[in-house]
Amino acid sequence: MSKVSSVTVAKFGGTSLKNYQSMVRCANIVIEEPSIKVVVLSASAGVTNLLVELTAKDVSDAIASTLIDNIKNIQLDISAGLFEQKQIEQNRVNGYVLNLVHELEYASQMLREQFSLKLVDEILSFGERFSSYLFTEIMTELLSNVDDKPQLVRFDARRIIKTDSRFGHARPDLTAIKQQSQLSLNLPECLYITQGFVGEDSFGNTTTLGRGGSDFSAALIAEAINADKLQIWTDVAGIYSSDPRFVTTAKPIKALSFNEAAELATFGAKVLHPATLLPAIRSQIDVFVGSSLEPSAGGTHLTTKPSTSGVRAIALRENQTLVTLSSPNMLLASGFLARVFAILAKYELSVDLITTSEISVALTFDNINGVSEGILPQECITELEDFCAVSIEGELSLVAVIGNHNPDHETISSTELLFKSLGDYQIRMICHGASRHNVCFLVKQSIAKNVVTNIHDQIFG
Ligand code: ASP
Ligand code: MG
Repeated sequence: MSKVSSVTVAKFGGTSLKNYQSMVRCANIVIEEPSIKVVVLSASAGVTNLLVELTAKDVSDAIASTLIDNIKNIQLDISAGLFEQKQIEQNRVNGYVLNLVHELEYASQMLREQFSLKLVDEILSFGERFSSYLFTEIMTELLSNVDDKPQLVRFDARRIIKTDSRFGHARPDLTAIKQQSQLSLNLPECLYITQGFVGEDSFGNTTTLGRGGSDFSAALIAEAINADKLQIWTDVAGIYSSDPRFVTTAKPIKALSFNEAAELATFGAKVLHPATLLPAIRSQIDVFVGSSLEPSAGGTHLTTKPSTSGVRAIALRENQTLVTLSSPNMLLASGFLARVFAILAKYELSVDLITTSEISVALTFDNINGVSEGILPQECITELEDFCAVSIEGELSLVAVIGNHNPDHETISSTELLFKSLGDYQIRMICHGASRHNVCFLVKQSIAKNVVTNIHDQIFG
């Protein structure tokens, strides 16, 4: 598809779509920015969580019906907001919503009879289907008195987001996505409203891209249509220099390079789904992250341009496990690491950080369920113990100092400030060098937030 004059893809997250008022705010953002040609929506806040509960294996009929009622009420509250404003056909709008609710009830009944991951994904897709329907109705209503209005099209994302069949975390088929977008989207003539998170495999089954996957959908579409810009609208004015929940002085970062943003997305910032950045980086699409509550407050621009030297953010990732493998035989021996990694690969364990000394190697693992126990399966430990001592330590956190660490271009090196700010804190492990954009420390979980706050205050004053 050739590049049409300035096309923006705008994605709105669940908190931005949580009720009627929030949806109106988002719709106005779209109306005021004519370059927005594709709108990608999450489910309204909380809905996907309810759907996840609904797909639990042991859900009872009674609980299922309560969960579906909760979901129905969230949607009907939104349509009620719409009716208060204007005399729009209540029967038609609520009829559509209730039809979807019936479909959901039926799918949930089927799932309780026979569990399948295929059906789970079908059920998870309802949140985005509700929100895209209601959002289109709101947009139509807001545009009803506008003369020169764009042609609105509610579009089923499954027509373009083609994936494999890994239900729950489907992988996109980039070639098919590009092809289908070219065939189906009439840009820049129409304004499309579609669902994030949801895709379709080659057998026509509904798939989902993983929790938080709407950003990813938006980036995939932006890439497929050669968009100039991707906007991610959320409930905070951009990506913060640290977690504002405990670093009270944290501020939105004005500009971030893609490399920095990729490190930040991996190491902590909740605003972005890490994989989101890949399609944007590949296609050099500028990304803007802003708040739908305060669209004029600015936000963070992510660009392909390299950034100036300096620290951008301090991120925290909790629940890390440190595994230390040591063996006197490692001294002057070759092949030790190869053996270690062959075993880890066999158990499909993915290592985050690694440091080595003459006779030992330290590895960290991200511990998604929060327990270190069982992070290495017993069989794996036994295999490792064949040739080294294994020690496992939990309750650790990773502090990542993200920026452009270029010692050649600094007067006061931020590295110097960084080490000063660490004071007497006990550091378990340090990693620096593999990437110029990240210096990581492992510290005890109990002091991690203090360490982050202290580094942040030293560096940003
Ligand atoms: N609604 C989905 C979720 O909550 C996808 C998204 O919002 O990005 O995970
Ligand atoms: Mg989200």
